[in-house]
Amino acid sequence: SPARLVSGAEREDDHDPTLRPQRLADFVGQARARANLQVFIEAARTRKEALDHVLFVGPPGLGKTTLAQIVSRELGVNFRATSGPVIAKAGDLAALLTNLEERDVLFIDEIHRLSPAVEEILYPAMEDFQLDLIIGEGPAARSVRIDLARFTLVGATTRLGLLTTPLRDRFGIPVRLEFYEHSELEQIVRRGARLLGAPITEEGAAEIARRARGTPRIANRLLRRVRDFAAVEKASEITSAIADRALTALEVDRQGLDSLDRRYLELIAGHFGGGPVGIETISAALSEPRDAIEDIVEPYLIQQGFMQRTPRGRLLTPKAFDHLGLAAPQLRSA
Ligand code: ADP
Repeated sequence: SPARLVSGAEREDDHDPTLRPQRLADFVGQARARANLQVFIEAARTRKEALDHVLFVGPPGLGKTTLAQIVSRELGVNFRATSGPVIAKAGDLAALLTNLEERDVLFIDEIHRLSPAVEEILYPAMEDFQLDLIIGEGPAARSVRIDLARFTLVGATTRLGLLTTPLRDRFGIPVRLEFYEHSELEQIVRRGARLLGAPITEEGAAEIARRARGTPRIANRLLRRVRDFAAVEKASEITSAIADRALTALEVDRQGLDSLDRRYLELIAGHFGGGPVGIETISAALSEPRDAIEDIVEPYLIQQGFMQRTPRGRLLTPKAFDHLGLAAPQLRSA
């Protein structure tokens, strides 16, 4: 599928670390998660022990990777990163684990996508800091046990429900990340503008924040694109009028919904009378993978009250019809 400007999942801007907060104190928003992490990090540091394993759960672009890096920096330990789909064989994970030093952070993104064989060797590693490996094949095969450094596993996943229960249970510190408030996104946009050397008015920052889908990655990306529009217009600062023109040109509407969000809502409104309709049907009609719809499109639409997931399928709310400029059907049952 084409790169979506407002998709939280596209990472093409992330190679530029300019906007990535480095310390817990620079990290805006997620106040509860931050406060808890602060306590656990402080305690682990004082006791000179490895921090308990941490699991970050939440939609793409909310800061899971950023927080994982911050945790290692605050602990003063090495940061190693990989992701579920990248670890093909048990041996790949074993190589990573045996190279860790005491208290290091191993970050596994998309941890719900580990293969069962790999997950199997992760359990004793997390629990007892031991690795049970089978060496050789057939009658010559023997099992060896290797002691590992006491490390911290930091996992990230878009949805808790995709994790197996035994894996989920082995994280002592589960942290759920929420969509950001407008005021927090405004702060993030103002901070980003300062770091990029792009003057912006209060209203300009507010306009970008309002249309960032509750997601810092999107806020930063929109800011870069709006800055390009301002540069071409030779404007001395980013105003709300420039932000509005740029975002409208980029097909990001006043609520921060993009063309895929609107196709999703229009499909259910126009073809299914507002629902309920099954996710597989929606996925086929939009030619978008079910995962992408469930991980990227729906969480924000649900949070904003445009739709609900019901046992019988997806159901639009009157607010969605309102947003599309359509009349809501009179009689509907969930
Ligand atoms: P995730 O791992 O949840 O997909 P990331 O940690 O990669 O998200 O964050 C995406 C981008 O958003 C990063 O480039 C980072 O700079 C920015 N970002 C995330 N959280 C914040 C925040 N609280 N304040 C400022 N920028 C943030």
